[in-house]
Amino acid sequence: MSTTLPERMQRVLRADVQGMHGYAVQPSAGLVKLDTMENPFPLPPELRAALGARLGQVALNRYPAERGELLRAALARHAGMPEGCDLMLGNGSDELISLITLAADVPGNVVLAPLPGFVMYEMSAKLQGLRFVGVPTDADFQLDGPAMLAAIREHRPAIVWLAYPNNPTANLWDDAVIDAIIEAAPGLVVMDEAYQPFAARDSMARLARHEHVLLMRTMSKFGLAGVRIGYLMGRKPLIRELDKLRPPFNISVLNCEAALFALEHEDEYARQAAVIRAERERVFAALQALPGVRPFPSEANMILARVPDAAAIFAGMKARGVLIKNVSALHPLLAQCLRITIGTPDENTQMLAAFAAALKECTA
Ligand SMILES: *Cc1c(COP(=O)(O)O)cnc(C)c1O
Repeated sequence: MSTTLPERMQRVLRADVQGMHGYAVQPSAGLVKLDTMENPFPLPPELRAALGARLGQVALNRYPAERGELLRAALARHAGMPEGCDLMLGNGSDELISLITLAADVPGNVVLAPLPGFVMYEMSAKLQGLRFVGVPTDADFQLDGPAMLAAIREHRPAIVWLAYPNNPTANLWDDAVIDAIIEAAPGLVVMDEAYQPFAARDSMARLARHEHVLLMRTMSKFGLAGVRIGYLMGRKPLIRELDKLRPPFNISVLNCEAALFALEHEDEYARQAAVIRAERERVFAALQALPGVRPFPSEANMILARVPDAAAIFAGMKARGVLIKNVSALHPLLAQCLRITIGTPDENTQMLAAFAAALKECTA
């Protein structure tokens, strides 16, 4: 069987898509997996058994129905959503990013975000045929306020994406700069709070104050990355329009039930998040003590660190059974940077040993 696309398919499929690279998932079998910001903790055995029994009761022969309404209400309560707002569900927040971009697919519209940032904003814009404007942060990965405001004045973006905390840099932005961006933005400003369980601040008050601000969260980094539940909050009239683009049954009954179960046990997830935050401080201090290594402050469940030779340390750690992410090639500001997800205490100890050994090897 040929591995190239038949010629007539080449003619009907989009040339830009054929020229793209797909989203690459690093193989991780047998490795300590610290590359994609997953929560490392499984549920305790008794909760896993209870969840199994719950999922066994779900009517798989039916399309998703009222349980989705219950999940929307439970998430609104969990998040503390303000009055006058509504919440829509996505199959992960990746789907919501696509739908928001689709909703703004008006010829000439521009999408804007700081860089380095989350790749899906740019990818969704390009797939929708919208121009993407990336505004570089400063060398410490803080927003360049004047550059952001100048770009907003020049390009009049329909959507401004602000991941808060940002990925892959893990930091929160300066609040005064965010507020100036929200004041200046002529279109939507979407605060993407995927890492909210690990951060000291959030944007709920901004959602309450501004009719053009949307707040997006996900259950992925919370502990349900495999389940695929993202949610978007905004003023009711705005969510009503965006929700028209959602495929009607986008949330599987199994996803929905697992998410409801998780929210009934949110204290367990809060306990896990507290361990991860404490471990983050331990890992940060250990990295900072290594010669030539500069970790950047984190408000998420990952740490970005600049090292003398990212490729060599990445390879040296992998050879020692630890998988992290080398983000050096994603943006010039990320030169020689590695991104490390915080794992369990044991995994972090293994990771730090592998890191130190790989560093020693490459600077020997
Ligand atoms: C991981 C991540 C997401 C995607 O989350 P899913 O809900 O798993 O699709 C969204 N935004 C940012 C900034 C992320 O890092």
